[in-house]
Amino acid sequence: MFFISIKKSKDTLASKQKCTICNEEVEMYFVPMKEWKLDGILCGDCYSKQLSDFYPGDHVRVNEE
Ligand SMILES: [Zn+2]
Repeated sequence: MFFISIKKSKDTLASKQKCTICNEEVEMYFVPMKEWKLDGILCGDCYSKQLSDFYPGDHVRVNEE
């Protein structure tokens, strides 16, 4: 039983990763930037949230002219 539970968690790690912020399983994951000081991976939603938190107004460019 112990062996099975180890194998199972290994498989889970290998196949699906969890977003380090919202803990959702993600298939298309993003690697956080070094300055965010996060371990693991991010889903698309949390990644873009982090982006706008760290670089407000920088990655969304609005042409007002
Ligand atoms: Zn997330």
